[in-house]
Amino acid sequence: MVRVRLAPSPTGMMHIGTARAALFVWIFAKQNNGKFILRIEDTDKERSKKEYEDSITTGLKKLGLEWDEFYRQSERTEIYKKYLKTLVEEGKAYPCFCSKEDIDKERKQAEKEKKAYIYSGKCSNLSKEIVAQKIEAGEDYVIRFRMPKEKINFNDMVRGDISYDASLIGDIVIAKSYDEPLYNFVVVIDDALMEISHIIRGEDHISNTPKQIAILRSLGFKEPIYAHLPLILNKDRSKMSKRGGDVALVDFLEKGYLPEAIINFLALLSWHPKDNQEIFSINDLISEFSMDRVQKGGSIFDYEKLDWINKKYISEIIPLKELVKRGQSFIKQEWKLTPEIMSAVRERLVNLADLEESVSFFFTEPDYSADSLFWKGKKGNTKNNLLSIIDIISDIEEEKFNKENIEKAVMAIIPKDKKGEYLWPLRFSLSGKKNSPGPFEIMEGLGKEKSIFRINKAIDKIS
Ligand code: GLU
Repeated sequence: MVRVRLAPSPTGMMHIGTARAALFVWIFAKQNNGKFILRIEDTDKERSKKEYEDSITTGLKKLGLEWDEFYRQSERTEIYKKYLKTLVEEGKAYPCFCSKEDIDKERKQAEKEKKAYIYSGKCSNLSKEIVAQKIEAGEDYVIRFRMPKEKINFNDMVRGDISYDASLIGDIVIAKSYDEPLYNFVVVIDDALMEISHIIRGEDHISNTPKQIAILRSLGFKEPIYAHLPLILNKDRSKMSKRGGDVALVDFLEKGYLPEAIINFLALLSWHPKDNQEIFSINDLISEFSMDRVQKGGSIFDYEKLDWINKKYISEIIPLKELVKRGQSFIKQEWKLTPEIMSAVRERLVNLADLEESVSFFFTEPDYSADSLFWKGKKGNTKNNLLSIIDIISDIEEEKFNKENIEKAVMAIIPKDKKGEYLWPLRFSLSGKKNSPGPFEIMEGLGKEKSIFRINKAIDKIS
C-alpha cells in the first residue's frame, strides 16, 4: 500500500516549494491508489504558528490537493517520549550534559583545525551511576543518538544511489528533553508509525536522510523509499527563500494566478514530460507524471513561464462562466461582472488581479478629450460617422445585441478604405482608452443602451 506524506513545518506562510512537494506527493498517491497524509511538524514551539498551519490547509484546499489523514506532531509528544526512553534504555541514545560553552569550544577547535565539526562523544560513555547522579543533581541535558560508524546507503527515486559515511556525522541531538524531541527523531517515529512507504520531499533534507535511516534501523523500523525533489531557485540560482520576494502560495493566489495554472507550472518546474506538451490538467498529470523524469538539478522559477501558463488558462481553458465567478472577487464589489464583459477582456489578462483595471471602463463613464476621438488627429467626418453608427445599431433588437450582429451591421456601412475613421472614434467613445478590446466586444459588454449613450456623448464632445 502506498502511503505518502507532506510534512510541512508551520513556521511561515505556505511556501510555493511546499505546494510543489504537495503536488508530487498527491499525484503519487493518486497514481498508486494510495493515501496522502498531511502531517503538521510543529515541534518547534517558538516558530510554529496556527496561522501558518491554516495557510497550509487552506492553500492545499485551494489547489485541490486534499489529504486522507491529518496529524499534528504537537499532539504526539507522549509517543515520542516512549521511543526516546526505549533508545536511552537500550543505550542507543544517551543524555549529554555538555554545556553550550563546552560545545562552542569543541566547535572552535574544529574550525581551527579546518575540520567539519563532530561532537566529541564526551558524554557517550558515562556510567549509569554518574548519569543518575547528574540528573539527580538537576544538571541540564539533551539526548544524543549514538550514530553508528558505518556507511549508510540508500537509493533515491530521483537521484539514484547515495552513500554517506555516518562516522562523519557524529552523535546528533535528537531531543532537547524528553518532552522536546527534535525533527530528525520525530520524523522517523512518525514515518514508521504512519507506515509511510515513500518519502517525497525537498532536496534540502537529503543530508538528514542518513541520520534518519540510522535512527530507524536502531528501532527496527522498515526503510521507506526516498525521492528528493530539486531545490527551487531564483533566476540567479540563489535559493528561493522566504526572505526575498514572493514565495508564499497565497501571494500568487492573491495576484490572480489560477490554481490550475499554478499546478501546471509547478509540475513543469521540476518534471519533464515525454514530449513538448506544456498544458497539463491535474488528470493529465496523474496519467503522465513519473518520478524518473523529475530532474536532479535545481529548478529555476521562471515568472514569465508562469505568466504564460496563467494567461493560457484565463484566455482559453477555464470555462467562461467559471472565470466570471472567480473574477468577481478581484474587482470592486459594486461592479457586476458578466460573461459578456469577461469575454471581451479575457484574452488581454495575464492574471485576475489585472481584471479591475481592465474592466473599469465598463463600469465608469470614460473621461477623455474630444481630440482623442479623431483618427490620426484629423477631425474629418468623425461626427457623421458616429451618427451613422448609432443609426444602424439602434435597429438591432436588444436580445440580438451581440458582437457578431453588431459587427455585421456596422461593417456593412463602413467604406473599405475608411475603417480607421469609423472604428477608432467608435472604440474610443466606448472605452476612453487607446488600448482596449474591440468596439463590438465592448458594445456587447455594455449593452445597447449604454453603448448608444456613450457614442452620443462623444458626438456632444465633438459638437
Ligand atoms: N518538516 C520538514 C520541513 O518543513 C519536512 C520534513 C520532511 O519532509 O521530512 O522542512
